[in-house]
Amino acid sequence: MRHIRQRIGDEAFRVLLQDHLQQQKGTTQPLDLTLGKGDGQWHRVTLQTIGGELSTQAAKRIAETAEAANAQIRIDLHHGLLLYSRKPLQLPQQLQEFVNRPRIVACPGNRTCRNGLVDCLQAAARLSAALKDDANLENKTIAISGCPNHCAHSPVADIGLAGRLKTIDGQRQEAFQVLLGGDNGRSAKLGEPMETVLAAELCCKVSEILVQFR
Ligand code: SF4
Repeated sequence: MRHIRQRIGDEAFRVLLQDHLQQQKGTTQPLDLTLGKGDGQWHRVTLQTIGGELSTQAAKRIAETAEAANAQIRIDLHHGLLLYSRKPLQLPQQLQEFVNRPRIVACPGNRTCRNGLVDCLQAAARLSAALKDDANLENKTIAISGCPNHCAHSPVADIGLAGRLKTIDGQRQEAFQVLLGGDNGRSAKLGEPMETVLAAELCCKVSEILVQFR
């Protein structure tokens, strides 16, 4: 929504939003929802993408696997796909690479966002590979934003990374400010701003942080 507002301007965006809300108010019926009884009845497998990237072949394979197992697919807030099934799911070999990856969410950064200062998807790919077997990262989330707008909710995550540019010896270099200890939305607690690290040193620094952060 931020991008639409920037493209068409504040006033036009406000009018568009109000019109849409009014239309929806007139058409939306109360949902007749039957709430599930929690995860207990279901087996869950998380397929973690890197920066939300999924090839057509992988997407097709996931859909086929879910269909064959009569599983439900959901999207989480961290670029992951959740497959829920009544019986344990057997993943084909081609999908094994999506399992046990670190939970990392990243905005597009400077690849496609004009506000982006850094390449978030590259950072996500490097961290995903470097931290794949790091037990200190279990149940923790890394959220990478390409600038201080924090679209990837960096201040809320266990480890937030927010894009910066550092000038060193007259050269501008990509860097990330580290935010540590957000409560992932369970409370109002945000991550504490820590040091700023160069993108080239990110994997080592995050590994060090994780050891302290246990
Ligand atoms: S955090 Fe910055 S770079 Fe990333 S999508 Fe938002 S505005 Fe763009």
